[in-house]
Amino acid sequence: MKTRTVELVAKPREPHFVGDGFRVHNFIPSGYRLDMQRMNPFIMLDYNSKYNFPPSDKPKGVSVHPHRGFETVTIAYQGKVQHHDSSGGGGIISEGDVQWMTAASGVLHKEYHEKEWSKTGGEFQMVQLWINLPAKDKMSKPKYQAIKNQDINKFKLDERGSEIEVIAGRYENIEGTASTFTPINMYNAKLKKGAEVMLNFPSDYNTALLVIEGEITINDDVNAPTDHLVLMENDGENFTIKASQDSVVLVLSGEPINEPIAAHGPFVMNTREELIQAFDDFNSGKFGHLED
Ligand code: MN
Repeated sequence: MKTRTVELVAKPREPHFVGDGFRVHNFIPSGYRLDMQRMNPFIMLDYNSKYNFPPSDKPKGVSVHPHRGFETVTIAYQGKVQHHDSSGGGGIISEGDVQWMTAASGVLHKEYHEKEWSKTGGEFQMVQLWINLPAKDKMSKPKYQAIKNQDINKFKLDERGSEIEVIAGRYENIEGTASTFTPINMYNAKLKKGAEVMLNFPSDYNTALLVIEGEITINDDVNAPTDHLVLMENDGENFTIKASQDSVVLVLSGEPINEPIAAHGPFVMNTREELIQAFDDFNSGKFGHLED
């Protein structure tokens, strides 16, 4: 086994608002090295670093919008998000929970701060990822995996509370809770100060680490502080993460989908023709109906 080295430690970009409820740093695909292909199948990563929202009677968020051709994964670290979609589905994503939405052939949805949480406001911290689907699955039926924190399989690393939450894929003997279309590992590594973990993924899997809390050192060499994204090279399999403070790290590693990407706004397809079809279908009401 060869050591996988660090390619880049990316600083968070200037934040922007998505709707009025998500103040995000975009890491993918706005970085020159982190375009949609570089971290594919992870084609978009918006990170709402800790931000204090004042109380609001009207929940802030993003009004009705469509998606087609991929999956959205929302991970709540602090605060609560509520969502509704055109198939009548909906739910609340609370601290520690993960919502894995397969938009595939198409959904309309809206995403807001949860009503009661909104009234008191407070610290909000969240990640939204877009995960691409291979051509053969892009038009499959939409589905949800609403994953409560207590249902996420966990690997205990030490007696001090360090653990790996295996959201998807596998860590040691622990199977990930979410099902995926292509091979993906997604973990929350919760490391107490001084804890160290070795990770091991095939070298062609695109791999990155987002430091949610604390500060880490990769391969006893490269430091990454809070809110930074570490892009790993595809030059080896194993690497270590050591926590220099109590830390939480979102670990992403996935087998690349080697297909062309045609993306525009909320649609991610393989060809321009399929994008035009997506807009036509959306405009002619084929994504269903949802009140704002
Ligand atoms: Mn959305």
